[in-house]
Amino acid sequence: MDAVALRWAVVRGNAEVAPGVFLLRAEGAFRARPGQFYMVRAWERDPLLFRPLSAFDLSPGEISFLYGVRGRGTRLLSRLSPGEELELLGPLGNGWPEPPGRLALVGGGLGIAALYLAAKAFGGADVYLGFPGRPFLVEAFREVAAGLRVASESGEGGERGLVTDIFSPEGYDACYACGPRPMLAAIWEACRRAGVALFVSLEERMACGLGACLGCTVFTKDGPKRVCRDGPVFRAEEVFDA
Ligand SMILES: Cc1cc2nc3c(=O)[nH]c(=O)nc-3n(C[C@H](O)[C@H](O)[C@H](O)COP(=O)(O)OP(=O)(O)OC[C@H]3O[C@@H](n4cnc5c(N)ncnc54)[C@H](O)[C@@H]3O)c2cc1C
Repeated sequence: MDAVALRWAVVRGNAEVAPGVFLLRAEGAFRARPGQFYMVRAWERDPLLFRPLSAFDLSPGEISFLYGVRGRGTRLLSRLSPGEELELLGPLGNGWPEPPGRLALVGGGLGIAALYLAAKAFGGADVYLGFPGRPFLVEAFREVAAGLRVASESGEGGERGLVTDIFSPEGYDACYACGPRPMLAAIWEACRRAGVALFVSLEERMACGLGACLGCTVFTKDGPKRVCRDGPVFRAEEVFDA
């Protein structure tokens, strides 16, 4: 288990890369394995809790997070300017396993946030991205993916349709996916039929991030599990065949 630390970081940038979607860059020597996350806070007592965000990217002296504005916490994050501080607790969670062979990464919407570091660290993976609106950060993914296909519902910036329309598991040894539950369930059906191992990263409302409060418990084939400590990455059959 990685040593978890609570540290302050100074904001280097917080750019809106699509309407309501921000790339937050913070200075510091942070660590994370692909698929791990940090609990993030840039306020004192209100709201009370940190918010979980996947480590989007790491480079020497910098960590970044890609997040969508959903409610109070992410709205406060979106107002951060360079030079301001935020608190980071992590790295947390299990992260993606070492790929067993030919790997496909499939992301829907903000689920792409959990995949960039995997594409960069594992290398040689094909990446499939789906967006409800105009695609974002496609060029960043193109630089680290072996192959890249992009779908958007309007066809703007990619092929028209859903990511499940452009992804087929045949030829892969494993698939790692993050996105809305219906997307994950559809990918699981395709991977099960093709006999391809699927790992999914789950997003649940989370309070402590440390496994103490049980607030993020999901029911799996092997009983209740905490997304923060036992996940966020699970074998698909654990979750969908429960
Ligand atoms: C392990 C993990 C990693 C995550 N990584 C990212 C990431 O990289 N980028 C990103 O944009 N988001 C990510 N999320 C989701 C993110 O944590 C929530 O969007 C955020 O906590 C919402 O906080 P808020 O205060 O803005 O909204 P709140 O006011 O708390 O809620 C606003 C709305 O968002 C919904 N919501 C709140 N928390 C979650 C959640 N955890 N999952 C799904 N819906 C939620 C609520 O039901 C509500 O409808 C991750 C979640 C987990 C558990």
